[in-house]
Amino acid sequence: MSRTVYLNGEYLPEAEAKVSIFDRGFVMADGVYEVTSVLGGKLLDFPGHLKRLARSLSELQMGNPLSDDEWLAIHRKLVELNAIDEGIIYLQVTRGNAGDRDFAFPAEDTPPTVVLFTQSKPGLAANPQAKTGLRVISVPDLRWSRRDIKTVQLLYPSLAKMEAKHRGVDDAWLVEDGFVTEGTSNNTYIVKDGKIITRQLSQDILHGITRASLLRYAAEAQMQIEERPFTIEEAQAADEAFFTSASAFVLPVVEIDGAKVGNGSAGPVATRLRELYLEESLKSAI
Ligand code: PMP
Repeated sequence: MSRTVYLNGEYLPEAEAKVSIFDRGFVMADGVYEVTSVLGGKLLDFPGHLKRLARSLSELQMGNPLSDDEWLAIHRKLVELNAIDEGIIYLQVTRGNAGDRDFAFPAEDTPPTVVLFTQSKPGLAANPQAKTGLRVISVPDLRWSRRDIKTVQLLYPSLAKMEAKHRGVDDAWLVEDGFVTEGTSNNTYIVKDGKIITRQLSQDILHGITRASLLRYAAEAQMQIEERPFTIEEAQAADEAFFTSASAFVLPVVEIDGAKVGNGSAGPVATRLRELYLEESLKSAI
């Protein structure tokens, strides 16, 4: 069934939503994005996603084309028009149609291109991978050094994901200077002696919205948290490993580079954290 999508102020059938070949997003990957999950027709962690969007735009010297209320209204309208119960909403803002290809930014008054669309994912919350866990490989982190900006420049994570697929596993963890930065599209964690260990925020990783909420809920539940980098060897020897993202919530990792983590099945901490995240984020869903 054809979706209704949003393009620059209009709600259109997906086949009618067209963007210029000179769009800066198309020729320069000059744009930012957000992905918000929908459960029971409601938006999870929405204020966090809007805050990060504003930061990504400002780091790239782009204006925010819409107010928070307008962003919320568009998200809600797309949920309604596409009857989304469980799924995601993808939002992208690019520096617009420059009318030609040029490394220099187009004139200040060039309107940005604003695109939003839905992806229906029935069964998102009941994902069987929460029980089976996922297998990952490690690959070098060859991305640029401003990973805190959520740009649409996703070629390297996409290549890393394909490398994982070719090697028969689910995903790749990226390693720089001997330490795990993050997953191709998620933040990574290990658990040792009950303590949750995850890399601290910096320009080296995306500041995950799910990460921020989960760490807050875990701290409120008196769980111990340590924010520091860890190696693949430490992760392989950990009691548990897991990752977070807006569309996956919390998912266990049971194998890293062929070595079983813990007893090779979903651990109690990751399982508890997934429950906690779903429970708490649903309370604040809008
Ligand atoms: N790191 C990277 C590289 C990502 O692409 C994502 C998901 N977009 C995340 C972390 C997780 O961020 P969030 O919890 O906000 O989805």
